[in-house]
Amino acid sequence: MSRIIASAAIRGAYDLANEAREMLAKVIEEKGKDCPVEFPNTAYCLPVIYSMLGIEVSTVADMETVLVEIDGLLPPHVDENVWTPYLGPALDAGMAALFAEEIIEACKYLVGPDPVSGIWLGAADDLILRERGIQFVDGSAPGFAAIVGAAPDVQTAVDIALKCQERSLYVFMAGETNGTTMSEQLVEGGIQLGWETRLVPFGKDITAAVYALGFAARAALSFGGVQCGDFHRNLIYNKDRVFAFVMALGEVTDRWYATAAGAINFGFPVIADTDIPEILPTGVCTYEHVVSNIPHESIVEKCIEVRGLKIKISEIDIPVAYSPAFEGERIRKDEMYVEFGGQRTPAFELLKMLDNSEVEDGKVEVFGPEVDSVEVGAKLPLAIVAEVSGRKMQSDFEPVLERQFHTFINEASGIWHMGQRDIIWVRLGIEAVKAGFKIAHLGTILHGMLHDQYSAIVDKVQVKIYTGEEEVLKLREEALAIYTARNARLADMTDESVDTFYSCTLCQSFAPTHVCVITPERSGLCGAYTWLDGRAAFEITPTGPNQPISKGAPVDNKLGQWEKVNEFINSASQGKIEKMSAYSMIEDPMTSCGCFECISALLPSTNGIMIVGREFADMTPCGMKFSTLAGTVGGGNQVPGFIGHSKYYIASKKFISAEGGIQRIVWMPAALKEEIKDELIAKANEMGLDGEKFVTQIADETNAVTEEEVVEVISANGHPAMTMDSMF
Ligand code: SF4
Ligand code: ZN
Repeated sequence: MSRIIASAAIRGAYDLANEAREMLAKVIEEKGKDCPVEFPNTAYCLPVIYSMLGIEVSTVADMETVLVEIDGLLPPHVDENVWTPYLGPALDAGMAALFAEEIIEACKYLVGPDPVSGIWLGAADDLILRERGIQFVDGSAPGFAAIVGAAPDVQTAVDIALKCQERSLYVFMAGETNGTTMSEQLVEGGIQLGWETRLVPFGKDITAAVYALGFAARAALSFGGVQCGDFHRNLIYNKDRVFAFVMALGEVTDRWYATAAGAINFGFPVIADTDIPEILPTGVCTYEHVVSNIPHESIVEKCIEVRGLKIKISEIDIPVAYSPAFEGERIRKDEMYVEFGGQRTPAFELLKMLDNSEVEDGKVEVFGPEVDSVEVGAKLPLAIVAEVSGRKMQSDFEPVLERQFHTFINEASGIWHMGQRDIIWVRLGIEAVKAGFKIAHLGTILHGMLHDQYSAIVDKVQVKIYTGEEEVLKLREEALAIYTARNARLADMTDESVDTFYSCTLCQSFAPTHVCVITPERSGLCGAYTWLDGRAAFEITPTGPNQPISKGAPVDNKLGQWEKVNEFINSASQGKIEKMSAYSMIEDPMTSCGCFECISALLPSTNGIMIVGREFADMTPCGMKFSTLAGTVGGGNQVPGFIGHSKYYIASKKFISAEGGIQRIVWMPAALKEEIKDELIAKANEMGLDGEKFVTQIADETNAVTEEEVVEVISANGHPAMTMDSMF
């Protein structure tokens, strides 16, 4: 490493360590040593410290322990004029700097200034980690850019952010240049910040950059099954699997050098717009560590090239930008040019398979008013009918493709879409219409994206869009009949009615031993893959992560074990998992990665189980919050007594049927209960229970917070679990 960088990084680390010491002294004086310390809603304490040192910081006193570690890591100062051949001292200084930064930020949560204020978001909680983490898993987010400092002007900042968004990257922002920050520049440029748009303003100080590294360190723990304290594996995991880089905008200070050295430990290279010494590959990264003096016009491309990211930009021929980063954009009422549906006008969308001769590829027609014939604020009816053909297309794939409309349309900048089937709600923003976006472009998007994502099954696509009330109402009748027929077909499909299940190993990039076995009655635990999705995905990519598994001879029908399924699991988990029960959470339960929508956990004294969804952040009766539970269940292990699963699976006839099914549910958050109430009632009725009554017998956070309270509530309610056989 260059001497200049080494000496600056070491100076910066000392400087940060001193600040941490001063902050800590202040905290001890004001709050005392026993005061609890935390980043909100996380099971990973102060994540860089936790993952690298294995120290669970939960009190102020614990931070003092870390200070001792920091002092031990800080190398002696080096002279700029003396050649140092090794990266070592600067890398150690970098790690020490990150620990110090985490202490500084944690102290801010106690004595201020509050890291969460104004536009600043502070630490990412575990809900965000899991929600966003899955995008790194499935490739919809190729990586992240940690940007420190500010661009020379607002327009340059906007251009850089837009380029990152178009490439689907997350942008984590911290630090200032001459009092200005990139985040503030973007706000000034009228850009929406937040996790939804992938432009994340962590904080104004450089110390907030540690939140980006905390996110990366937790990804390794949460999805990669790396143990806390195993810094070596954590760093290797990040180097190999988390495609991130640091972009330094503006004068690089000693503290920046120190933070950059910390990031280089993770294998994240640093690309700067200023003239700082470059560092060539020497082992930690297989690419340059530091690349300098890059002009702003090409800095995003340079970062991607240096980090070796493979990024595909969808080329959809519309007058606005298009990328997954725009999916989370909102369009407020006063920003909207025209809207459709949302209970205001009739609206629906439908995808139909037709004979090849009936489809003219690329044809988009609009019947009824276009944007140029309505005023700002207009409401129009809408029918979007996509007609596709293809030799490998099947009518079973219609709903699979149709469900993608939501994502496809949302990914256009300035266009917003919600819902599906006949409950859609679509808005075109004023800016988008000003840029030339027309209703017909919705068809252009669907045509382009269906070809882009489903080329293996779709040969031709034409789109008809209707905006006249009479026609929309008439066509909606036809659509409703199709939806009803599809529902009936799905309801008929059972695990017994098929001889093939589908695997999903998409999450193995993060949880190497995890395999989802997707059956008609048990969807993937992330909720994103049903059996039909698995089948369609296999047709589309025969060598992809969704493989057919023929069941083979049953090993145990009650548990849901089959010979071939076990064989598959065994080989797909590299021999780590020998057998798996599709219907039990006690005997050989399915593994979990980290993406589950819900977790079911045994509550031994109730003879039943609790279910908690990721939306619920409070304490649960098993004594753990969702985030802590998730750490216990995830990582690709089998954990008897716990399973991660989708919401959809709860109301399945096969939901832990080996243990008696939904009758075991004794507690769930009120909101989750409300969300799946209708399905739950129907399923309970099918099982011969009084469904309406059963739902009221399940305890929730309004009447039971501890396991003892759950026992009291369900005893008083006469819950069926009380009289069932023991769960073991
Ligand atoms: Fe991951 Fe399972 Fe969802 Fe596939 S189905 S993406 S393996 S959670
Ligand atoms: Zn997963």
